[in-house]
Amino acid sequence: MYRKEILSTTNGSDIVDITIIGGGPTGLYAAFYAGLRGVSCRVVDALPQLGGQLMALYPEKYIFDVGGFPKILAKDLAKNMIEQGTQFDPEIVLEAEVGELVPEDGHIRLVTRQGEFLSRTVVITAGKGALNPRILECPGFEEHYRPDGGVRTHVHQPEEFRGKRVLLVGGGDSAVDWALGLKDIVSELTMIHRRPGFRAHKATVAEVDAAVERKELELLIPYEVRDIAGQEGCVVGATIFNNKTDEERHLAVDAVIALLGFKPDLGPIAEWGLELERNSIKVSQTMETNLPGVYAAGDVTHYPGKLELISTGYGEAAIAVNHAVHFLDPKARLSPGHSTHLTAFRDQQDG
Ligand SMILES: Cc1cc2nc3c(=O)[nH]c(=O)nc-3n(C[C@H](O)[C@H](O)[C@H](O)COP(=O)(O)OP(=O)(O)OC[C@H]3O[C@@H](n4cnc5c(N)ncnc54)[C@H](O)[C@@H]3O)c2cc1C
Repeated sequence: MYRKEILSTTNGSDIVDITIIGGGPTGLYAAFYAGLRGVSCRVVDALPQLGGQLMALYPEKYIFDVGGFPKILAKDLAKNMIEQGTQFDPEIVLEAEVGELVPEDGHIRLVTRQGEFLSRTVVITAGKGALNPRILECPGFEEHYRPDGGVRTHVHQPEEFRGKRVLLVGGGDSAVDWALGLKDIVSELTMIHRRPGFRAHKATVAEVDAAVERKELELLIPYEVRDIAGQEGCVVGATIFNNKTDEERHLAVDAVIALLGFKPDLGPIAEWGLELERNSIKVSQTMETNLPGVYAAGDVTHYPGKLELISTGYGEAAIAVNHAVHFLDPKARLSPGHSTHLTAFRDQQDG
């Protein structure tokens, strides 16, 4: 997946015309439109990857209701969106949750842990807010929970786990998919789930059951993690227990991967002085918020008749960016024109 990290090292980085908060499908489409309109653009996302919910929540599920694709895997749609959204080379800042949005004289200041970013306008495409992974409340989890540690809530590079003994925790799509994705890479795979029945694609669950039959992995239900043990900063084992009988088992493992889903949380966005309705940002027909120069699009917005769909996010992103361009330069045309005729794509037209 795309991980072009251009991090701002100093406060007061270059001011850009449009900053897009959230690199999900709506934000990526907004980045594409900013490029098409020839304005400078930066995309900031809290997650370590682009793609929003498609990559974080259901990469292996088929989507059937996006125009032009009768059927497409979420991860493939995200890949296409990233290709389209980054073709004009926007600056991408990952693992940077925007904590504050502060309107200042002539620009807006965005505060993240990576630094502060200045922008003339902002398009908020933050979906349901930062998708914070659910974590295990057990001793040893936090101690070893870091991007290069033995406790993870994401699998980015399966090869990192080659030859390792892994405990996989979870019962949703992501856990089931990674059980299959890791079983031939790791040296030992134990999967536990706290209750009978998976919340995952039937065909994939059947594949896991078949792999268990072939002894390619061990599946224990209803089991939970009691604690994680480490030595010199590395995970060396975990204690799991049957939540019906309290029977304990001690596993020698090198890594614990907890794939327990995400907690959507509007978080700091609720404190930015934006008018909210139903835990979403209220927008006008032009996708403007109550703050001048601040627009919003996609799942994060609310207006009468709102539908939370990828396809509506695309339309809203186009409206938001074109109005932001008009805000930046009131003499600029509101309509972008048809892409078939734009000079930006002239080289790509056949013939
Ligand atoms: C299981 C499932 C199946 C679905 N199936 C379909 C389907 O078939 N068809 C369909 O149309 N829709 C479907 N949806 C809904 C669809 O995924 C959403 O409508 C879509 O992802 C919304 O896109 P978005 O870009 O607005 O927000 P998101 O995809 O949520 O992306 C928002 C991004 O903003 C980032 N962010 C949030 N807050 C901050 C912050 N403060 N600072 C920095 N970054 C931040 C997040 O990390 C995230 O990456 C499905 C959803 C789920 C959960």
